[in-house]
Amino acid sequence: MTNFSDLRLSESSMQALTDVGYDKPSPIQEQAIPPMLDGLDVIGQAQTGSGKTAAFGLPIVEYVDPSVAEVQALVLTPTRELCIQVTQALRTYGSRKGIDVVAVFGGAPIRSQQAQLRGGGQVVVGTVGRVLDLIQRASLILNSCRFVVLDEADEMLDLGFLEDVERILALTPNSRQTSLFSATMPPPIRALADRYLYDPVTVSVQSATMTVDSVEQFQLPVEAKDKADKLVDVLRAERPDQAIVFVRTKIATDRLYKKLRDRGLNVKALHGDMSQGARDGVMLGFKGGRVPILVATDVAARGLDISTVTHVVNFDVPRSPDVYVHRIGRTGRVGRAGRAITFVESRQRRELVAIEEHIGITVSPWAQGARVAPAPVEERPRRHSKPSVSTNGAQADEAAFARLMAGAGSADGLRVADLVGAVTREAGVDGEAVRDVLVLERFAFLSVPEADAARIADAVSGAQVSGVTLKLERARA
Ligand code: AMP
Repeated sequence: MTNFSDLRLSESSMQALTDVGYDKPSPIQEQAIPPMLDGLDVIGQAQTGSGKTAAFGLPIVEYVDPSVAEVQALVLTPTRELCIQVTQALRTYGSRKGIDVVAVFGGAPIRSQQAQLRGGGQVVVGTVGRVLDLIQRASLILNSCRFVVLDEADEMLDLGFLEDVERILALTPNSRQTSLFSATMPPPIRALADRYLYDPVTVSVQSATMTVDSVEQFQLPVEAKDKADKLVDVLRAERPDQAIVFVRTKIATDRLYKKLRDRGLNVKALHGDMSQGARDGVMLGFKGGRVPILVATDVAARGLDISTVTHVVNFDVPRSPDVYVHRIGRTGRVGRAGRAITFVESRQRRELVAIEEHIGITVSPWAQGARVAPAPVEERPRRHSKPSVSTNGAQADEAAFARLMAGAGSADGLRVADLVGAVTREAGVDGEAVRDVLVLERFAFLSVPEADAARIADAVSGAQVSGVTLKLERARA
């Protein structure tokens, strides 16, 4: 077991770690920090939640000189959200040493970012499009840039940013130290690493998210008031051997348990307000197979590791992707295909999108009898978990895409990445929802799922991208 003190970090970094309360390095930190401190290029296969930000952030902080007002490290991120998150983390890690971290991202005024860059920050964290823009305006000078990090490279690929990433890499010094972090390693990312990393050390952490592959995952849009009825429908349709229904709070767990019981289902509840004896009784009944349906909170169900669980129902969208992975990891064990169904109220859509992004799949709509063929992790950067059979046709139609037009084009400085970035950001949709982007001199076109077209057009219209106010409307055939 390694400690941070074994990793040859300076006193100021150790103090910063004490400030944030990290006791021990996470596996990715343990593996990536030493080679990075040795000056080697690193490929890190890890995702959000693994502690990858500190894995590259701490070595950067070690080597950056706060007395030199030049950009010494550049971290490229696919999205504004990640950019902000990474910036905050690096500011924390570098605070004791007095390192200045500047965030640059699209959708915010470029002037204030230019002013911040003139202020002489040592570390720049930026989204791909905006970084390129600032380089082209000579506001971002990378001559002294010693470190380059590509964070969530597979996400950059999905969003269509890879060409721009290459252009940026080509503009940084050859002597730079490069690291690339990615949850998956599809061929274009490997090719990029081959071209731009020198003899890299590869480190990877097998995270819990890898284990959800054997689970068929579905989502079901619901309204708060008829969730209990929907649940009864789903359970009757799915006929699970054993199911765990996860609920966020103890009170809601009890309420749902009573409703199901009153509808004649053989169900038990498990939550922290029950006596230890009562909990043990329920656990034993469930483990012994006598109780087919368990309604539980996350905390109460911790440690339930049951190979006979065929179904997990998320009665509420889990609070975080990690909780989602942890919950659905209860099913589909040892070669059995489990099924996970997540109820989604409209206000929880964004939370589900975050989960989909985290685990790298699109969760299919639930329909009675719907099937999903799980695919191996590395086959594709992003897997659609699409139903191949269904009985009531409630799922998305692959072919239904709408063509939208933007009243701005390359002459206005609009680029493919800007447009895709704006749509994913403003409408909260996955990069894969955007297809066939075409930027002409004065206009641009893109295709989005028909079902979301009106909402996307609405959400994106009015957004500022590279100084252009976007207006999206349906293109005439
Ligand atoms: P990341 O994967 O970099 O987004 O980090 C995920 C979360 O883990 C963040 O909230 C970090 O602050 C936290 N974290 C990172 N490294 C450690 C550590 N060694 N100990 C405890 N928490 C950590």
